[in-house]
Amino acid sequence: MPIDPTLPYDDSNIFAKILRREIPCNAVYEDEHALAFHDIAPQAPVHILVIPKKAYVSWDDFSANGSAEEIAGFVRAVGHVAREQGLVVRGYRLLANVGRNGGQEVPHLHVHLFGGGPLGPMLTR
Ligand code: 5GP
Repeated sequence: MPIDPTLPYDDSNIFAKILRREIPCNAVYEDEHALAFHDIAPQAPVHILVIPKKAYVSWDDFSANGSAEEIAGFVRAVGHVAREQGLVVRGYRLLANVGRNGGQEVPHLHVHLFGGGPLGPMLTR
């Protein structure tokens, strides 16, 4: 069920639990700003989620309230993971769902990183 992005951060969400190491994840990268791990239900040959370490509900929250250092660190982490996964030469796709219309289900900002093969049209209706 998509989230209401106007609600305050709820630290019982699944990605907060992953950050607290209360539940496992298949991590591929971590630094002071970000954690990247494989999506549990991949929708492409490579499907990685990159999340900020701090508590932001969505891209909207992060872009409005994140510090310049956090935003730069997170954006660099996403790019680093794509390079490290060997996705740059053939290309990849980034996606951040925001709120109800975006279909965001987990209320902690995450960027989907898709690659490993042709990804098809941007949206299917
Ligand atoms: P959203 O729809 O919020 O943009 O995407 C949430 C994503 O989180 C989905 O692609 C879903 O498969 C993934 N996901 C949900 N629960 C877990 C989990 O416990 N572990 C991992 N690795 N991914 C999860």
